[in-house]
Amino acid sequence: MNTYIQQADNVLAQTYARFPVVFTKGSECTLWDSNGNAYKDFVAGIAVCNLGHAHPVIAQAISQQAANLVHVSNLFYTVPQIKLAQFLTENSFADRAFFCNSGAEANEAAIKLARKYFYEKGDTDRTVIVSAKQSFHGRTYATMSATGQDKIKKGFYPLLPGFKRVPFNDIDALKDTLDKTVCAVLLEPVQGEGGVCCPSDDYLQKVRQLCNQNGSLLIFDEIQTGMGRTGKLFAYEHFNVTPDIMTLAKALANGLPMGAMLTTETIAKAFGPGAHASTFGGTPLVSAAALCVLEYMKEHQIVNHCETVGNYFRKKLMELKEKYAFIMDVRGYGLLIGMALSIKGAPIVNKCLEKGFVINCIQDTILRFIPPLIVQTDEIDALIDCLDLVFQDI
Ligand SMILES: *Cc1c(COP(=O)(O)O)cnc(C)c1O
Repeated sequence: MNTYIQQADNVLAQTYARFPVVFTKGSECTLWDSNGNAYKDFVAGIAVCNLGHAHPVIAQAISQQAANLVHVSNLFYTVPQIKLAQFLTENSFADRAFFCNSGAEANEAAIKLARKYFYEKGDTDRTVIVSAKQSFHGRTYATMSATGQDKIKKGFYPLLPGFKRVPFNDIDALKDTLDKTVCAVLLEPVQGEGGVCCPSDDYLQKVRQLCNQNGSLLIFDEIQTGMGRTGKLFAYEHFNVTPDIMTLAKALANGLPMGAMLTTETIAKAFGPGAHASTFGGTPLVSAAALCVLEYMKEHQIVNHCETVGNYFRKKLMELKEKYAFIMDVRGYGLLIGMALSIKGAPIVNKCLEKGFVINCIQDTILRFIPPLIVQTDEIDALIDCLDLVFQDI
């Protein structure tokens, strides 16, 4: 066995069931391991490295900023953070941005803001957050309490009070749950970790209507679906539904840790000085990286490319579905694609890895394809050939 892995097994917390690979280098959609083997990456660090690995333009932005100013705290203004907030608000429904360091932190900020908004209005009974079953919102106590998957909560009770869950795509269940105690409905527009579950027909529009009728806020967790992943800059654009609060993280800075919570002017007012904070949130270093990512994506029309190659990719996966009876479903938007199987996915993931392709399996039976958004059709073709070979032997 690789000596690095032997060392790791003695010293790292055992929170991850890792594949026995040590990656040492990357470029675009290719990764190399410590033995010099090359892999095509269809995971992108879990929908994070949208512009691929070691992108020279991003690397330059990071190193320039690192040589200039890394961190001063939010006691002061810095130019990259201001410019990033301008970009995000000019390109979304939102008016204001709060920066933090991860997805869970962005959702924590959203949950705190929703409660504070009603507190400031004197509506102090509105504290309940309604989220969806099968959802994933993070691993902190509040975000774990919102998350709709029991396996994530096991051993960690008691969780926080004030959280309720309803089945995704069940508008009647939501209707029955909404009352004057509900301050916000928190949903992923497309559930990522839950199995790439897409909203049916006009579900999200009806959710928006119900929230309006009940006086509750609508929070979209776009931590996985945001930043162009679904073929629009933000997934809510697919559904003609605007949230009141949106959370971002994963791909925001192409791999540097960054989260953001975006909201409207009216709601943002509830977060006055001292209400919420993060020491590292939105440092000049990560903000400069995120700004560079966004400007590059705009200039090179990466979101359009994602939509085009995403359609191609799904078409190719549908062709495999015609061929193999154990493929139940191919679904998703852009380059957030799930392939539901009637068999376990882990052996397929392992065989693809042996053949130099990094793919991912969630919920035991769903293969998830989330490559860098810059992936090319010849790379997709190579993966399809690999899957075809692996499927023949399964
Ligand atoms: C990954 C993810 C999170 C959690 O983000 P972390 O950065 O791991 O805290 C929350 N919500 C969704 C939808 C995610 O995909």
